[in-house]
Amino acid sequence: MHIYLVGGAVRDALLGLPVYDKDYVVVGALPEQLLQLGYQQVGKDFPVFLHPDSKNEYALARTERKAGTGYTGFICEFGPNVTLEDDLSRRDLTINAIAQQQDGTLIDPYGGQADIAQRTLRHVSDAFIEDPLRVLRVARFAARFHQLGFSVAPETHALMQQMADSGELMSLTPERVWKETEKALACDQPQVFFEVLYHCHALAALFPELAPLWDTTDTSSEQQISALQALKYSAQLANTLEKTLTTRVACRFAVLCQTLDTDTISALCQRIKVPSEHKELALLASRWHAHIHQLGQPGLAQAEEVLALYQATDAWRRPERFAQLLLCAHADAGLAHYPQGTRLWQWFNELKTITAQPFVAQGLKGPAIGEAIFQARLERLKQILKE
Ligand code: ATP
Ligand code: MG
Repeated sequence: MHIYLVGGAVRDALLGLPVYDKDYVVVGALPEQLLQLGYQQVGKDFPVFLHPDSKNEYALARTERKAGTGYTGFICEFGPNVTLEDDLSRRDLTINAIAQQQDGTLIDPYGGQADIAQRTLRHVSDAFIEDPLRVLRVARFAARFHQLGFSVAPETHALMQQMADSGELMSLTPERVWKETEKALACDQPQVFFEVLYHCHALAALFPELAPLWDTTDTSSEQQISALQALKYSAQLANTLEKTLTTRVACRFAVLCQTLDTDTISALCQRIKVPSEHKELALLASRWHAHIHQLGQPGLAQAEEVLALYQATDAWRRPERFAQLLLCAHADAGLAHYPQGTRLWQWFNELKTITAQPFVAQGLKGPAIGEAIFQARLERLKQILKE
């Protein structure tokens, strides 16, 4: 049996990028042999195993043939007769179809190294069209490697367009669509994912709700930065709020959606099963980002309105989410310093120091305490705005 490192690990090492997880392909072996060696089989349909110590994935070399509609309709064949070349030929892109022997030798039958050098995302074979998920994957790799100068090869783009036009993308489950979208949003240039999908006609099938973002006839938005531009900025605004992948994705999703109306955002989130945390931030951003631009300016802001913003966005209980909301508004305004956000955050923190304690000490009870806090915060805010 022969074991090769394949896929993302080989590609990323050639690109000089850090390698996180390693996938291996095993040629000339039967499942029983791997089981005997202590590998653990995962998944019933696919011959994929976990290494007993490293827990890296080892897959038996396999071929795939399309047998029905949708991305599940595959017949998968494996066995000691399937060659490394067979296995590499079923892969999506040439840059993902390079294998490496244990001694470092590269096996690259489809020109992956040349495409890495030319910064080209090119499909391996015409079997590319058999799996609609690949349209999303290519768009995601375009976003991920945009900074490195990668773009989609014209012939691959043509196949993606053909796949989009055929209606096959409709067979993708919402879970798959969201999973790829989530990964794309986490990239440095997330807007490229949507641009690539738009240009190959896939956006209309996958995200019809986003169509208004490409409507250039809407002159009222002439002064505004486009949602895609804002999405790009949101990724550039190096931010301490993006502590976790979830908050990073949530902010970017909200920035993408915030110029859409709330019904459209709800429809999109329901259809592709966007997590509720992301949906809530997107809805808040849609309702409030334009107000935030205004309310953060002392000359324009009324204390009552600013306080209403804090109340309506539940800022007192959810300060982190409120900070994310300010980030969304910032991205909508551009990359420059965004004083509105800074001020709304400072005022908020000052008002937060007004708490129930002194009112309880005065003997207030029940709703009267909340009312007293509200009034005290309002008075303080009026003062601040006059200063
Ligand atoms: P990442 O760094 O995001 O994990 P990756 O290239 O390793 O990138 P995986 O999804 O882990 O991507 O898949 C591993 C390999 O399996 C890919 O490099 C590619 O060769 C192949 N592959 C995965 N999904 C598909 C697909 N839908 N069609 C064809 N080949 C695929
Ligand atoms: Mg991988």
